[in-house]
Amino acid sequence: MVFSGNNVLVTGSSRGIGAEIAKTLAGFGLKVWVHYRSGAVQADAVKEEIEAAGGKAAVIGFDVSDEAAFVDAIKTIIDSDGELSYLVNNAGITNDKLAMRMKTDDFMSVINANLTSCFVGCRESMKVMRKKKFGSVVNISSIIGETGNAGQTNYAASKGGVIAMTKSFAIEAATSGIRYNSITPGFISTEMTEVLVDEIKDGINAKIPMQRMGKASEVAEATAFLLSDHASYITGETLKVNGGMNMA
Ligand code: NAP
Repeated sequence: MVFSGNNVLVTGSSRGIGAEIAKTLAGFGLKVWVHYRSGAVQADAVKEEIEAAGGKAAVIGFDVSDEAAFVDAIKTIIDSDGELSYLVNNAGITNDKLAMRMKTDDFMSVINANLTSCFVGCRESMKVMRKKKFGSVVNISSIIGETGNAGQTNYAASKGGVIAMTKSFAIEAATSGIRYNSITPGFISTEMTEVLVDEIKDGINAKIPMQRMGKASEVAEATAFLLSDHASYITGETLKVNGGMNMA
């Protein structure tokens, strides 16, 4: 794939989907900022794997819910590289409970980690990318943001918000040469879905036309496409990567 830009920050790339996105983008020649909150050792391992394969990487750690820390991190990247070409807002959490039992704090913690952080990343990236009149951002939403799900009112609200917010950023940034798109993965095999018991996993697979969970690498390839020059006329789009689970 062809990329006119040079570097990318992938939030939450110490493991799971983010780590796969980081490795995939490094494979296309981008310098990748591998990001973690608590998994410094795992982030270092991702960096080492990228470098062993001949790629370029740096590690950066901060809590995406901490606005000042996110702003500082973008500054660190600009001070080091002089630019930020691409951003993938991937870091995310779940905190599932039936709505009747969900405390407002349970709701807001997921909104802050998944939606507010994404807003801060989109806004701060716009400030630096517009100076070069170039940039591309991919926000990792979820199929749950399209369909809703029992026990996930907080997560569904955060991920539905990401889809709508991405479209608004896309409109505001369109004449500045910056594209904003989102991806809605279905169920992907990572630590987030590993916690599900086999009975639930079997129930999920039965509802997927392709009859299997997706691989992190399949989300990574779609992310690379949306960031790349190949998607130069695509902005505000929501790309489903879900094995056919939701086509609406
Ligand atoms: P994961 O394996 O649980 O990894 C989550 C990543 O996000 C980790 O690198 C973690 O960092 C980081 N992170 C979480 N909270 C953070 C915070 N407050 N500040 C900074 N970093 C934070 O998750 P995943 O399954 O790869 O999911 C990645 C994204 O895809 C999420 O946005 C998720 O909602 C979305 N998604 C996943 C699926 C799925 O089936 N897996 C489906 C649809 C959408 P540390 O470990 O270093 O703390």
